[in-house]
Amino acid sequence: MNYAATVAKFSAIAEEKGFVNSFEGNLSMIDRASGNIYITPSHKMKGLLTEEMICVVDSSGRQIGGTGKKSSEFFLHEAAYAARPDIGAVFHCHSPYLTAYALSYRDFVTPEDTFLHQIFGTIQCLPFGEHGTHAIHQGIEEALSGRPVALLGGHGVVCVGEDLEDAIGLLEAAENFARTVALKSGIK
Ligand SMILES: [Zn+2]
Repeated sequence: MNYAATVAKFSAIAEEKGFVNSFEGNLSMIDRASGNIYITPSHKMKGLLTEEMICVVDSSGRQIGGTGKKSSEFFLHEAAYAARPDIGAVFHCHSPYLTAYALSYRDFVTPEDTFLHQIFGTIQCLPFGEHGTHAIHQGIEEALSGRPVALLGGHGVVCVGEDLEDAIGLLEAAENFARTVALKSGIK
C-alpha cells in the first residue's frame, strides 16, 4: 500500500466535505509492520497535498520523510494508535456540531433507540489539554475503548477507523447525528 498517496487522496476528500482546511484538521495512517505513521503537514491546504508532502514519522517520533513539517497534533494521533492497536487511521477535525459539545465540555449522549447509538455509544469528552502537547490526549484509552469517536475538551473531535475511508465516514455520521439532535431540540 502507498500510505502517503492514500493520506493525500483522503485529505482532499476531507477538505471537499468541508471537514478540514489549511489551519484545521489532520489525517494519518499507520503501517503496523514498521510502526511508521504517515501524517498531513502543518499549514497546507489539504486539497493540494501531494504524496511527497506527507510526513513519515518513525516509532521513535523522528520525521524520516515528507517535505512538510509534521502536524502539531502528531501526539494525538500517536496516542490513538497506542490506545487502539486494531485501527489503521486517525482523523482529527473541528466539525461544528460535535465541536460545540467539546467546547461545552459535554459528552454527546446519543439517543439510545437509534441505530447509530450502537456504533457510537456515548461520545466522551476528554479534559482540556494544550494544543500540540501530550495533555491533549489524557483519557483517550477509555474514551476510544469500543468506540470510534472522542471529543477533545475545548478543541474538537478525533475519530479512528480501520482505514481513512472508515474514519472519515464515521466522523461524517457522528457529525450528522449531532446536527440532527440539535435540530430535534428545536421541535416542540
Ligand atoms: Zn485541532
